[in-house]
Amino acid sequence: MNQVPKFKCSICGQELLEREISCICSFCGKQEQGEWVCPGGHYICEDCRLASPAEVIERVCLETHSQNPREIADLLMRHPSFKDHGVEHHLLVAPVILAAFANCKKTRVDKAKIQSAIKRLVDIPIGVCGSRGDCGACVGAGAAVSIIFSANADPMMGRSRALRAAGSALLRLAEMEGPRCCKQSVYAALETGWDILGKEFGISLELGTITCGFSHKIADCKKEKCPFYSIKE
Ligand SMILES: [Zn+2]
Ligand SMILES: [Zn+2]
Repeated sequence: MNQVPKFKCSICGQELLEREISCICSFCGKQEQGEWVCPGGHYICEDCRLASPAEVIERVCLETHSQNPREIADLLMRHPSFKDHGVEHHLLVAPVILAAFANCKKTRVDKAKIQSAIKRLVDIPIGVCGSRGDCGACVGAGAAVSIIFSANADPMMGRSRALRAAGSALLRLAEMEGPRCCKQSVYAALETGWDILGKEFGISLELGTITCGFSHKIADCKKEKCPFYSIKE
């Protein structure tokens, strides 16, 4: 007897139901006829399902209306192309900050800036946190600040601000100690980059409490030793 295939929602983990109904993609917002839907209302269109990390980051950042980079990052890190750890985490910090910051200013994020942010981070190898004291996610905070300030201010000022953002994010991550965790690196970078932007512009930028929703699937999660760990998740 043929078994009905079972698929799980990459966003919430619930088993998908076979239903032909009109669905809205949780990633890009496109509406289409779906075949497998999540009881929680999540859906991924075919283009997003097959997208590479860089493609889905660009797609989501251009469409999102979220003013919170953590929310956008959490959605992206649930995309099937995102593994527990990997270089894809280097790519997302700068684009999600740029997108959320543009939304806070009630403007639309520039596609060229998102593409530039991804391009600036794409060549950082995996594992450089340990091998050279670098981290693609933390440097992403520097790239976001660089792009925001170089566009409309003195490039020399942009340089020191970018260095401060990347350096502060790296220090914040170093304070957390323990083995590498790409989710923790992303959260540390977002927290630092967002805080620096708020201070530079003298505005209140909300991030909310960061609670990692990936602890249960990460084998070497630092649990109570990580500031983003929550027993509830
Ligand atoms: Zn779901
Ligand atoms: Zn989509």
